[in-house]
Amino acid sequence: MAQQAQLLAEVAPVMRVKVLLPLPMGAGYDYAVPEDLSLTPGDIVSVPLGPREVTGVVWPGGADGKVPDEKLKPVKRQFSVPRLSPQLMDFVDWVASYYMVPKGAVLRMVLRREQGLADVKGKTGFRRCAVPPHVKLTAKRKAVLEAAGDRALSARELAEAAGVTDGVVRSLAEAGALEPVMFDPDPPFGAPDPDAGRKELSQQQEAGAAELRALVRDGQGTALLDGVTGSGKTEVYFEAVAEALRADPEAQVLVMLPEIALTLPFLKRLEERFGTPPAHWHSDVSSAGRRRVWKRVLDGSARLVVGARSALFLPWQKLKLIVIDEEHDQAYKQQDGILYHARDMAVAMGARQGFPVVLASATPSLETVHNCELGRYSRVRLPSRYGPAVLPDVEVLDLRAVPPEANRWLAEPAVAEITETLIRGKQVLLYLNRRGYAPVTICRRCGERMTAPDSDTWLVEHRYTNRLICHQTGFSMPKPEACPHCQAKDTLAPCGPGVERVAEEAKERWPDKVVEIFSSDTVEAPGSAKALLERMTAGEIDILVATQAAAKGHNFPGLTLVVGVDADLGLSGGDLRAAERTYQVLSQVSGRAGRAKDKGRVLLQSYQPDHSVNLALTSGDRDAFFGAELHCRDEIGMPPFGRLASVILSAEDERKLLEEARALASHVPHAEGIEVWGPAPAPFYRLRGIYRQRFLIRGRKKSNLQAFASDWLAGVKGTSAVRRVVDIDPYNF
Ligand code: ADP
Repeated sequence: MAQQAQLLAEVAPVMRVKVLLPLPMGAGYDYAVPEDLSLTPGDIVSVPLGPREVTGVVWPGGADGKVPDEKLKPVKRQFSVPRLSPQLMDFVDWVASYYMVPKGAVLRMVLRREQGLADVKGKTGFRRCAVPPHVKLTAKRKAVLEAAGDRALSARELAEAAGVTDGVVRSLAEAGALEPVMFDPDPPFGAPDPDAGRKELSQQQEAGAAELRALVRDGQGTALLDGVTGSGKTEVYFEAVAEALRADPEAQVLVMLPEIALTLPFLKRLEERFGTPPAHWHSDVSSAGRRRVWKRVLDGSARLVVGARSALFLPWQKLKLIVIDEEHDQAYKQQDGILYHARDMAVAMGARQGFPVVLASATPSLETVHNCELGRYSRVRLPSRYGPAVLPDVEVLDLRAVPPEANRWLAEPAVAEITETLIRGKQVLLYLNRRGYAPVTICRRCGERMTAPDSDTWLVEHRYTNRLICHQTGFSMPKPEACPHCQAKDTLAPCGPGVERVAEEAKERWPDKVVEIFSSDTVEAPGSAKALLERMTAGEIDILVATQAAAKGHNFPGLTLVVGVDADLGLSGGDLRAAERTYQVLSQVSGRAGRAKDKGRVLLQSYQPDHSVNLALTSGDRDAFFGAELHCRDEIGMPPFGRLASVILSAEDERKLLEEARALASHVPHAEGIEVWGPAPAPFYRLRGIYRQRFLIRGRKKSNLQAFASDWLAGVKGTSAVRRVVDIDPYNF
């Protein structure tokens, strides 16, 4: 028998497949296919890799045959889940080549750790039941009972939801206060009903919706839904979503939002509109929740998904529409790992796979505006607010004429208007995009600025937690009593304002009013952002001092006055997009004012009242501002007229870093229409003890920067001491 098998093996060629693994590898490895398996590209399998077993995907293109048959290792098992769609695999290949990263690294974004591959049939969970009278209810136990509902949850999930250890859940169950039940840990999502909670649209909205429905029926193209804040863009793009769901009973739709705009009220709105809670995907979702979404997107039953940027890499089966809300938001650009831009990738995906993409914004990016002007994107405008609400009046307060007193941040005219607004019983938002108490801490004696020990960044004083914190690395320390440089005592002074300091001033000026801070520091605990926003909506807060975290998407009916405490913040700095971005965020914040019956008012405190951003905001002439900005970009050949890429070198050893930077600088290949600038120290030259140098590559619109960069870098041998990262279409420079 054994001899016969051996003979057979010699004659019959070994069936092989190429398997791509979610590791930084550019191509897959060959594996032998055991006789009892029949594998097709897209199948998810588990294969040996050295001593480990790794999950990978049978990749299109076939095996390369380099490894001889006798050395080939066999595929261990095939998971009984649907295979990845050919479109998704094509997308992975494309993203890898666009961003110059290994395919396997992109696949890693698709095959996530919490993937639902194991065939869990049923699992014991717990749900609420009558609590026996003898059971003592501690605060932790109460939290568990509150978190438990009629739907069974595993001990882990319950503990996660209640913020306690698994042990608390188990002890409650043993005491008979929770009922054990068998359940499917990843139940399917409800089918969205395109007509469940349809709202009557205004004439303007209906015209916009009709255009978007036509786009969906066409099955291709990108449209910008360009509507002022409060125009009801959401209601309008819901019509596009409904149309896609209606047209095909298997269609999947993704609505993408920047992470911080993905709030509970937004999910509720989707639920009301489509009659079922949507699958949602972002960093706050528990790992079990993410596993459920992943698995249900793969089997096609999650049809409506709302998610942050990484939702783009879910294992889509039949994606038929992507909506990108707040398309201008820079949060769509991933800042570590693979430096992709989710909006750009979504548009590319739609074009490659033949489905439409809707971009929505009140302040679109210049790239998108430019694409509309070129006729590549269609444009649907909603110029006025929905219902009786009108856009607020915007006025710039010239701080040169009325400077605030020393260590105060609100100028007299702003104080007077705030007082007047509060007397009328209305709410005020003080906007300052700076977390903490003071952005810089200086020694009054020797002038030392407090920096983190391993970085060049300034430490920001936070009184809320009583620490000095580095906002780049998260390093923190208690505020020292003596200056670390000159040892003088009690000389470290806060310099400039953060939200905590502005709130302090507000509390002093209006002591009988409720003042709260909304920033990522104050709303970190789960549920606290929600509670704060609910109190603001209910009118229980008089003055909200907020960073950008509160700028997005919220409707506060009692809010009529917004004060931009430092409207110049963000205008300085060499960043290409500084003006565009400042304009965007100030309009977003301004858009919070007067969303109900009362007309809103916006006061922008500025030392540069004639800056183009301020002029655009006060005149409301956005298109003129965009026109002028685009003209500037055109003159200097910057995006969207030219292309950029940056090459960042980083190393612990500064000498080796500079050596390699010099070597690269002296080997820049010549290419028509492409220039290289640098090396120059990257922003935050030293971070966590790592030094960073940067080159900027600028090319004409059609130049192939990827090919240029890859030739250039391949021509100069690197060392393991210096890391090279290419950032295609970089932000923040
Ligand atoms: P945008 O995203 O353009 O700022 P939203 O879609 O959030 O605007 O709409 C602003 C407010 O107006 C929301 O409270 C929304 O529910 C309400 N709204 C918009 N359109 C309608 C409509 N057709 N019927 C009822 N309410 C609407």
